[in-house]
Amino acid sequence: MGLDKRIFLSPPHMGCEEERLVQEAFESNWISPLGPQVEAFEKEMAEYVGVNGALAVNSGTSALHLALRYLRVDQGDIVFCSTFSFVASANPIVYQGAVPVFIDSECESWNMSPSALARAFAHYERMGKLPKAVIVVNLFGQSADMSAILRICDQHGVPVVEDAAESLGATYHGKASGTFGKFGVYSFNGNKIITTSGGGMLVSDDREALTKMRFWASQSRDLAVHYQHSELGYNYRLSNVLAAIGRGQLGVLDKRISARRSIFQRYYLALSNLDGFMFMPELANSLPTRWLTALTVNPLYAGISSGEIIEALAEENIEARPVWKPLHLQPLFKDCKYFPHTQDKSISEQLFKDGLCLPSGSNLSEEDQDRVIKCILTVMNSRGTKK
Ligand SMILES: *Cc1c(COP(=O)(O)O)cnc(C)c1O
Repeated sequence: MGLDKRIFLSPPHMGCEEERLVQEAFESNWISPLGPQVEAFEKEMAEYVGVNGALAVNSGTSALHLALRYLRVDQGDIVFCSTFSFVASANPIVYQGAVPVFIDSECESWNMSPSALARAFAHYERMGKLPKAVIVVNLFGQSADMSAILRICDQHGVPVVEDAAESLGATYHGKASGTFGKFGVYSFNGNKIITTSGGGMLVSDDREALTKMRFWASQSRDLAVHYQHSELGYNYRLSNVLAAIGRGQLGVLDKRISARRSIFQRYYLALSNLDGFMFMPELANSLPTRWLTALTVNPLYAGISSGEIIEALAEENIEARPVWKPLHLQPLFKDCKYFPHTQDKSISEQLFKDGLCLPSGSNLSEEDQDRVIKCILTVMNSRGTKK
């Protein structure tokens, strides 16, 4: 028996305008780097999320790196960072020669725990060494509890960088996720809610800061006809062709959000009453995009583990994945300090043990989603679920 068509976790989903805009870039012969599409993309992004300015770069990782350098993160400094995330959230700390300190999640949002953050600040305040910055990650399309987090960071005068790579389009108290910190970072990697195949955006209300970072991102070229450089720079800018794709994608972002939220709703209706199944909660006063439908499966009640569900789906040619492995558990960061939610309770480790992400692409058809749901129900039945 042949396998059914593969169902991916979160594949790209192009709209109708992207090809025309790329064509425009070709016709004007603005292929790379930079050009009018980049400028328009920056302007449209800034308007969409409601900030003064935006800087288009070649990845979300580059955007984070620029933000940390601007905040003078340097050799021997420490930076607090959400532990429950993709490695790209913390790597730029190390690029700057600084050391990450990892902060656990809370149950309400799965994102940074304000109480773990407060304990970390108390600890480092006693040592007389505050972090240079706090990187707050907004996972799976949901904002962290930014009011509580900003209150703590403001008390200590430490700036926040929001890693909103996964939360473009989400809101918190009616305001766009990624616009709460000094800097916000979005990603247009192939698996994100909108994509340019690869790319990122740095947003801020501080136009002067963005100008400085734009300079660094284009090899720090001084104002001179000859190539002169007084500062270290990078080749971090986004190409004009990819910005054209980004503009088309931004035009359909709201549609992508409602599609992903509907997909979540269908999973929720079909699976939320199964014993041991718990979907990622929706934080009060926030509207997540449900970039990925994420849930935990407690094997004690479900009679099956999240890993076994992922395997069963893989056998049906369906891509599901574990949630992010906490960064403090990564071999790369094994020597870094970690502050759990409470002294003896680590939420991110529990989420990692039981969590999984289901196929959530905005182009997932109802038929394909039914295949995913049926496969899960079948494997549950075959295990003789406890009632
Ligand atoms: C995708 C992602 C990034 C990195 O973005 P790139 O554009 O791939 O460099 C950073 N943080 C999180 C949480 C991400 O999911």
